[in-house]
Amino acid sequence: MDQLPAEAEMSDAVFERYSFVIGSLFSYFNELPEESKKRFVKRVFQFRANKQFHFIGLEKHEDVEILVSASAIQVTFGLNNYMMSFFKDIYILADAYQTGPEEEYYIGHVAPDGIYLSFKHFLYGYLHNGTDNTNVAVHEMAHALVHNNVFAQYGADRNFRLNYEKFSSTSGPILADVITNRRSYLRSYAFSNMHEFWAVSVEAFFVNPTGLKKNMPDLYDVLCRVLNQDPLTQNKLIA
Ligand SMILES: [Zn+2]
Repeated sequence: MDQLPAEAEMSDAVFERYSFVIGSLFSYFNELPEESKKRFVKRVFQFRANKQFHFIGLEKHEDVEILVSASAIQVTFGLNNYMMSFFKDIYILADAYQTGPEEEYYIGHVAPDGIYLSFKHFLYGYLHNGTDNTNVAVHEMAHALVHNNVFAQYGADRNFRLNYEKFSSTSGPILADVITNRRSYLRSYAFSNMHEFWAVSVEAFFVNPTGLKKNMPDLYDVLCRVLNQDPLTQNKLIA
């Protein structure tokens, strides 16, 4: 099921180190049984090793790279192909940022040249207990996953692509309402409505799965199928 190259062998010390860092922020990770923790950490290790991290306004730090990689692995944990190989570069900024002198402020975005995240808002997404369904890292990794699979077609995950097409075709009627209520000045960048609906749904799916399942059970079920995981179970994985 895993597609880990042989060089993914990691020492016990590295495993312990990664587990400690990830477990300090990700309740998702702490809930996993031991075997799944190993799968998770190996994937974080591989993901991190295959990306270039760029720090803007804050010191380069290994723990930050591990944590940002862990957010990608959380979203892709149920998929065979988790590397999002279209994206080679991840830009971590200290705080909200502008992409031009007259532009609005962003807390994260995905562009062809990389994935961008404000680390201040990254932390907020994992520390604030999920009452507002926001997690910028999950949001941007959801965008990146679609870009990697549907548009770029590098390293695509076949099951994801099939199920994402179903998600796209069945979600239309609830789309406009969700967009209207969730978009803020920080996040109104130039993706189509379908893209924002997807990313916002994935955020809710991970930040407050109980609430999403209760309020939008059909959407919750579709997301379980697309991502091949159920965050409400201890093991997360479905297949
Ligand atoms: Zn978005």
